[in-house]
Amino acid sequence: MRERQYDVVVVGGGMAGIAAGIAAARAGARTLLLERYGFLGGMATAGMVGTICGLYLAGADGGAERLNGGLAGELADAIERLPGSAPPRRCGRTVVVPYLAHELAALADDLVAAERRLDAHLHAHVDGVERDGVRVAAVRFATADGMRSVACSAAVDASGDAVAALAAGAPTETPPPDERQLCSLIFTLQGVDVAALGGAAGLALRRRLAAAEAAALLPAGASDVAWRPTGRPGEVAVKLALRAVGGGAREDFRSAAERAGRRRLRALVDFLRADAPAFAAAFVSQVAPQVGVRESRRIIGRARLTRADVLGGRRFPDAIARAAWPIELWRHGAAGARFEYLADGAWYEIPLACLHAAGVPNLFAAGRCISGTSEALGSARVIGTCLATGAAAGTAAARVAGGAAAAGDAPPAADREPTPAAGATARDESSG
Ligand SMILES: Cc1cc2nc3c(=O)[nH]c(=O)nc-3n(C[C@H](O)[C@H](O)[C@H](O)COP(=O)(O)OP(=O)(O)OC[C@H]3O[C@@H](n4cnc5c(N)ncnc54)[C@H](O)[C@@H]3O)c2cc1C
Repeated sequence: MRERQYDVVVVGGGMAGIAAGIAAARAGARTLLLERYGFLGGMATAGMVGTICGLYLAGADGGAERLNGGLAGELADAIERLPGSAPPRRCGRTVVVPYLAHELAALADDLVAAERRLDAHLHAHVDGVERDGVRVAAVRFATADGMRSVACSAAVDASGDAVAALAAGAPTETPPPDERQLCSLIFTLQGVDVAALGGAAGLALRRRLAAAEAAALLPAGASDVAWRPTGRPGEVAVKLALRAVGGGAREDFRSAAERAGRRRLRALVDFLRADAPAFAAAFVSQVAPQVGVRESRRIIGRARLTRADVLGGRRFPDAIARAAWPIELWRHGAAGARFEYLADGAWYEIPLACLHAAGVPNLFAAGRCISGTSEALGSARVIGTCLATGAAAGTAAARVAGGAAAAGDAPPAADREPTPAAGATARDESSG
């Protein structure tokens, strides 16, 4: 039986879903945000990614100019003020904002609680969507107290994996595991002699790791690591890219990735402690609750963002966000990431049509499951852009739910005009 009616249901409480929920509520919609974990933030907290990318224009030098204002800018301001966050800092040709995952999760709680029209249900796993003709009519989810089904007038799929779109029978696309961007497991090590890891020493250690893997002293894939000092004494954050994970008939890809991540982490840390003096006293202090997923299922929208749109700085009449992160691809068969940059100071726009599910007029997507090619989403998936597409999807869903907009209408100009914040100055850091 369906329960009380909400105007908008947002599926997934990652950074895109948080923005979507707040935007929908502020646009006057009674809104429900559903999240399967016991905390909000998605990859930003559960995956411990550690820095916010995509908030600022990229370029070889200069200050940090915000790409999006409005709610996305307000959320960025709040993140930058958190304990443990640092001002925007230059990282090669880009600008990033470091943050602490537990502080971000607590901020998300506060932001959601402050919205009168927004309810949030944690530990709520969405497993079905009911349709009434072409429209989404209700969202079903599992809780510790049983199954629930909530009627709604519009929905936002911010699940990262387009689970609501799939359940609604909307068109989606999912590249096969070996064509997707790699997953990575992120963890922190403490007790590290951080000063001894810089420059040539760090490079030499990476070479030793690769040689150890080639000699089968490490499990396959365990040498594909990058580390960065977090700024806390003796601590580095380690990113272990999970190539050659497997999966198949007996084990789904994600289970295989989680198990491979844990096994490789243990072997890698043992090796580092034994082989590298900088890590001799190191210990694992935190492991991300889940492997980080860069790419999975996404919607097929009324339009599809492409590599040419991104690199060409394309503008759209129904633009809802500006973005400028390079196309960052983590592929099988290559160590680390490959970057393709926009021209210095350039940006592209994301149109509302990439957020709007084809054939389902009251369903929108936000964050990393918007409609686009693998390459385009290699840029648009970063958190700064997810905040902007989340805010736009929430506003659009509220307007459709309220009958103020015909399906597919662009939000009013005030919602979509980017209002770049006065630029803070980025601190230059050559080690990205
Ligand atoms: C290893 C790695 C490193 C990265 N590094 C950076 C970085 O440094 N900076 C940066 O800006 N970006 C980085 N990214 C990209 C970025 O973190 C993500 O693309 C972005 O956070 C995605 O946000 P989202 O809200 O769209 O999706 P997600 O963060 O995936 O959130 C989706 C939410 O939906 C929930 N959900 C899913 N299914 C259901 C369901 N059935 N029912 C209820 N809830 C559900 C999930 O639990 C989750 O909370 C990185 C990604 C990875 C994987």
